[in-house]
Amino acid sequence: MISDFPRPSPGGCGEQIEHEEYSLHEMSYMIRLADIAIKECETHKAASPRTLVVEVGELTGVLPHYLQKYYPAVIQGTKLEGSALEVIRVPSEAVCDECGQHYHPEKEMDYRCPACRSLKARFIHGRELSVREIRF
Ligand SMILES: [Zn+2]
Repeated sequence: MISDFPRPSPGGCGEQIEHEEYSLHEMSYMIRLADIAIKECETHKAASPRTLVVEVGELTGVLPHYLQKYYPAVIQGTKLEGSALEVIRVPSEAVCDECGQHYHPEKEMDYRCPACRSLKARFIHGRELSVREIRF
């Protein structure tokens, strides 16, 4: 009766998937974002910030909870030490070149315009991965 399942059944939350590749992905992005913020603080001879606010586009595949997880280790011994990280998720948005319609595509590979069915669309949001604000 008891059989071996190849993997646990999904809990309904895609962000619970543990994957080494993704972890390294987020770690390197977190280091890059923190570096930008540290340089910014040095340039302006600023005091230690309270919060670093970053924006992460839906299409980047970067999972905010990994950024949160790595943040304390990444900022240890830097100007950012002791600050909090706030992650703003930016939904993807496309604009149709044929009819000008703005819409939210479900997937990057399926971005047909809902109004005219054209495939000539450009993404104007969703690939963000940047420092939005440093709060002091
Ligand atoms: Zn269109």
